[in-house]
Amino acid sequence: MKAYQELGREELLSLKAQLEKEFEEEKAKGLKLDMSRGKPSVSQLDMAMDFMDTLDSNSYMKTEDGVDVRNYGIVDGIPEARKLLGDIMGVSADHVIVCGNGSLAIMYDTVSRSVTHGVGGCTPWCRLDKVKFLCPVPGYDRHFAITEHFGIEMINVPMSPQGPDMDMVEKLVAEDESIKGMWCVPKYSNPQGYTYSSETVKRLANLKPAAKDFRIYWDNAYAMHHLYEDRQDELPEILSLCEQAGNPDLVYEFCSTSKIIFAGAGLGAVASSKANLDEIRKSLSIMTIGYDKINQLRHVRYFKDIDGIARHMKKHAVQMRSKFQAVLEVLDRELSGTGIGEWTNPNGGYFISFESMEGCAKAIVAKCKEAGVTLTGAGATYPYGKDPKDSNIRIAPTFPSQEEMELAADIFVLCVKLVSVEKLLEKCCPEP
Ligand code: PMP
Repeated sequence: MKAYQELGREELLSLKAQLEKEFEEEKAKGLKLDMSRGKPSVSQLDMAMDFMDTLDSNSYMKTEDGVDVRNYGIVDGIPEARKLLGDIMGVSADHVIVCGNGSLAIMYDTVSRSVTHGVGGCTPWCRLDKVKFLCPVPGYDRHFAITEHFGIEMINVPMSPQGPDMDMVEKLVAEDESIKGMWCVPKYSNPQGYTYSSETVKRLANLKPAAKDFRIYWDNAYAMHHLYEDRQDELPEILSLCEQAGNPDLVYEFCSTSKIIFAGAGLGAVASSKANLDEIRKSLSIMTIGYDKINQLRHVRYFKDIDGIARHMKKHAVQMRSKFQAVLEVLDRELSGTGIGEWTNPNGGYFISFESMEGCAKAIVAKCKEAGVTLTGAGATYPYGKDPKDSNIRIAPTFPSQEEMELAADIFVLCVKLVSVEKLLEKCCPEP
């Protein structure tokens, strides 16, 4: 296919007329499709309905070491749940605290506690003039929302398929004591689906931050979310690398079973060094007498062990990959060689990341909306909702059915073409 940039004004005008006609036809269909949020599909949720039967009125309600899960206590979570969640992250149970229904609240609490009480005996962030976080971009909007909520200044760090730009990260954290944290989604990142390379993880574990209370927020949300049997990414385990590097307290790691079992009704966990966990425990035990141990027990009885989770995730993968492939096929067929878009083809996770021509993303999202396809708002993948190039669009192929996904992808590429042609006409070939 010829690159759109090589088309002359007349060719662009006739292409525009044809695309506008197609667009009106699509619009007239009155579709209502949603590719906006990374939610599990109904059929993925249906696959786990027997989870609800795992515990009933006849169940033995004690842990392996005889604690009644129906009663108060065990703020760290029951030992077998700590082991299960630890296995997701590749760390031992003693490094893990299992909390409530998901991981986002733990991340929020961790930032909140740092603001009010400080980290490792350092000045609470609320008493400092400036607190900054490094934000690999594009990234997860809800991370950025937490730091924005607490008035923390966010600094964009570009991502590559190997992870964040480490030269920039090393330099910034070494020079600037007001940089107190960094958001990372190290495996099948949201939205690009990239997995940090071993080299990147090692360099992160070996950081020499100026701030003693600098912490990496290692959100391992997609640890188990492979799409393919034969194409799976491996992520080195960072806590042990930090220990080896003499940086044992550098990382808070998070994971959850929200997108393994039921979204928002799973288990969230944090893993870290003993010193960090002791500090977390201090405030946790004031906040709660213990989280929902019944759900912890239900998880352990249902999955049994990490292999049980892996087996369950293979069932998800069968459905998910056909939706991902449906979108990728349309993108390949319609946009390869046009020079108006690039996209990721991840081995796992929940998203495909699309890069349009500069200055087109907002218009593409708006055009899609006009034709009945809802996408994540353009800019959402950047701190403050500001994508400096206005080019990143997050595609979430998980929730719609495969049929809907194919229809939505067709409309998406049509809108990409139309907006790009308009942009090229406006930029390259202004009216004489
Ligand atoms: N982290 C990332 C990177 C996510 O994509 C999501 C959900 N989209 C979450 C955390 C939220 O997870 P939870 O339901 O465990 O709070």
